[in-house]
Amino acid sequence: MKAILIEKPDDTQTVSVSEVSETQLPEGDVLVDVAYSTLNYKDALAITGAAPVVRSFPMVPGIDFTGTVAESSHPDFKPGDRVVLNGWGVGEVHWGGLAERARVKGDWLVPLPEAIDLRQAAAIGTAGYTAMLCVLALERQGVTPDKGEIVVSGAAGGVGSVATALLAAKGYEVAAVTGRASEADYLRGLGAASVIDRAELTGKTRALAKERWAGGIDVAGSTVLANMLSMMKYRGVVAACGLAAGMDLPASVAPFILRGVTLAGVDSVMCPKPDRLEAWSRLSSDLDLGKLEEMSTELPFDKVVETAQRFLKGEVRGRIIVPVT
Ligand code: NDP
Repeated sequence: MKAILIEKPDDTQTVSVSEVSETQLPEGDVLVDVAYSTLNYKDALAITGAAPVVRSFPMVPGIDFTGTVAESSHPDFKPGDRVVLNGWGVGEVHWGGLAERARVKGDWLVPLPEAIDLRQAAAIGTAGYTAMLCVLALERQGVTPDKGEIVVSGAAGGVGSVATALLAAKGYEVAAVTGRASEADYLRGLGAASVIDRAELTGKTRALAKERWAGGIDVAGSTVLANMLSMMKYRGVVAACGLAAGMDLPASVAPFILRGVTLAGVDSVMCPKPDRLEAWSRLSSDLDLGKLEEMSTELPFDKVVETAQRFLKGEVRGRIIVPVT
């Protein structure tokens, strides 16, 4: 079967489209015929070796996939079931989705809601499912559309695009932050009420700044997140999921102790199953599938490796679907 294979025979990592035997697949109780994988920020880090995402070699990257169950000894799945997988270390420590077949633990799989097909689920991918987890985090903290505008960073990226569309569909006013002014029309098309230059959030952080937003979804970290926190309204909530700008957080406690601001961390990888089921159910009911198509591009399997470099430079828009078969 065809797979992308990352190998590290010495200090240097190599990546190629390879033929591997199905007998090389790792252990698991469900074998899946992969229909689509996708390209996420973490996949780009793994494929380029820009960060130590891959922790065992050789590795098939691909932190997510959608497909059909081929064989199963897990009680919840039978051949023919449509499934989606996000995270759980797949594509990092366990062979991932960028291959024609994947063998995984059935406990990691989510049955696909009726309303979405395999391609749409891939278009959503880990980025979109994480965006939904961020929206759920805001909702759980009581951020409703009447509270005020929600700021979304990295809005033209995968998480940001889906977050913008989801929030707009629920009646939130979205302020989309981007470093690419050329994507302003795209972001308005997804439902953003305003588009903000990223530079407004990358300057020196003040402990507190003028109150602007009732909530935020941040994919950037570093000064972007710190500035976002300083600009939250009283009792505002920020869901933080990413590090596109950096791992650091040069912030002050002032927003927390003087404005009651909440910083909600969002992790998609080890997220418990009930939350995954809720997120996928909400994605199937809330996400405008027309907008999902607008933000999606198909990438041929043999172009994945070269595109990973462009991805890390922030040159890729929205979501990238990789048809595998
Ligand atoms: P994308 O590359 O698609 O999007 C990231 C976007 O961030 C870019 O498109 C760009 O948007 C913006 N950006 C890039 N560089 C910077 C910078 N230096 N400062 C501020 N903004 C920047 O990636 P994804 O959407 O797939 O992932 C986004 C982040 O979320 C990543 O850090 C990823 O690791 C993380 N993530 C975390 C998950 C979790 O479980 N916690 C799950 C999924 C993703 P624009 O051009 O519009 O500014």
